[in-house]
Amino acid sequence: MDEQTGQQETEPRHRRRVVIAGAGMAGVQTAVALREQGFTGPVTLIGAEPHQPYDRPPLSKAVLLGNAEHSAFDVDFEALDITLRLGLDVTGLRAADHELDTPDGPVPYDVLVVATGAEPLALPGSEGVPGVHLLRTLDDAARLRPVLEQRHDVVVVGAGWIGAEFATAARAAGCAVTVVEAAGRPLAGVLPAEVAAPMAGWYAEGGAGLLTGARVARVEPGRVVLADGRALPADAVVVGIGARPATRWLAGSGIELGPDGSVTADASLRSSLPDVYAVGDCASFPSARYGERLLVHHWDNALQGPRTVAAALTAREGDGLPVYDPVPYFWSEQFGRFVQYAGHHAGADALVWRGDPAEPSWTVCWLRAGALVAVLAVGRPRDLAQGRKLIESGVELAPERVADPSVPLKSAAL
Ligand SMILES: Cc1cc2nc3c(=O)[nH]c(=O)nc-3n(C[C@H](O)[C@H](O)[C@H](O)COP(=O)(O)OP(=O)(O)OC[C@H]3O[C@@H](n4cnc5c(N)ncnc54)[C@H](O)[C@@H]3O)c2cc1C
Repeated sequence: MDEQTGQQETEPRHRRRVVIAGAGMAGVQTAVALREQGFTGPVTLIGAEPHQPYDRPPLSKAVLLGNAEHSAFDVDFEALDITLRLGLDVTGLRAADHELDTPDGPVPYDVLVVATGAEPLALPGSEGVPGVHLLRTLDDAARLRPVLEQRHDVVVVGAGWIGAEFATAARAAGCAVTVVEAAGRPLAGVLPAEVAAPMAGWYAEGGAGLLTGARVARVEPGRVVLADGRALPADAVVVGIGARPATRWLAGSGIELGPDGSVTADASLRSSLPDVYAVGDCASFPSARYGERLLVHHWDNALQGPRTVAAALTAREGDGLPVYDPVPYFWSEQFGRFVQYAGHHAGADALVWRGDPAEPSWTVCWLRAGALVAVLAVGRPRDLAQGRKLIESGVELAPERVADPSVPLKSAAL
């Protein structure tokens, strides 16, 4: 019996054909986790890109700088009996027929895992203008490498994580870099002003210009014109203004999508359609831990979520379904700093500084009802590791000990 539909299953669970749409981190990890958890049925991984599946974080770091040629996953798909269909775009889902549409014809499935990730937002009006780049794929990184090698004048639009990482790499390569940010500070949608303030200083220290409150009016060949009339010379423009779930191909399928375009999965990462799961950058999930639905665009989520999907698919009859409620985690390498964040905070949470932001390393903690809900660590990986465990345990902390960077964070537990 299928737990979701209440209907008799035609195939025993362990023999059902699993098709995974999207061969990025979440798709690959789902396939691997299925085998690790003992699933013996056919597994097919379909990816739009022609390349061997690869990891994205190195694209804004080692791969961009030419310190690594590629970042292909070290997975032996053949040995794991995972069928790879690369360079194949999934264009539609017909749930009633349990079929996907592709240019090579329909692909039937018993269970579908949607893992199509996210696509970067384009700067309106800049599409097709020569010299304008996005940074999401290996091909994007390959196009940007000569820009770095030739030490071009670069304008980066958006002072978010990707913008900061690209600016760091471009400065390391010797480019002149100006970062243009419409908001009043870097990472405005993510961090409060007092936390972002010291980060703004990192740009100048790294030799990159940072213009905040600066809106791009238009991009012309060779320059970026701002709304206030200023023109910035630009041999290349890199746009890093965010990403949205790559779910347009699901239009008309009947699957439920949120206002942010994510597949609104349940606590076991099941979508609103029978036998269809969703995981990684394309899926949001309800977090009981944080009391809200989360859409997480970070690597660790694309590693952990697949384990829940595989556990759900390999659960024996009578087993409860696994619940996905992680403490989200990510890292960023920018301007010579290792920045890590775990958890999720809201504006009302109490912010506690741990160390001086003028120093090379410091930490910020967010407390809710005395317990840690999020931690941001700059060059303090131990705080991050201990903080992550404290968030998971939910224990109450002594704020004065949290604020003392000489006391191990774990010792702040009451
Ligand atoms: C440049 C860069 C640097 C990053 N650095 C960090 C970092 O330092 N730390 C961190 O925590 N996170 C980082 N991230 C985020 C992290 O890489 C993502 O969260 C992660 O890759 C998400 O995995 P995913 O499989 O859900 O999506 P994706 O990696 O986007 O994979 C989805 C795959 O699906 C394919 N696809 C899409 N639509 C279709 C379709 N219709 N048919 C077939 N295939 C399709 C896409 O081509 C893609 O290959 C970075 C991201 C980028 C782009």
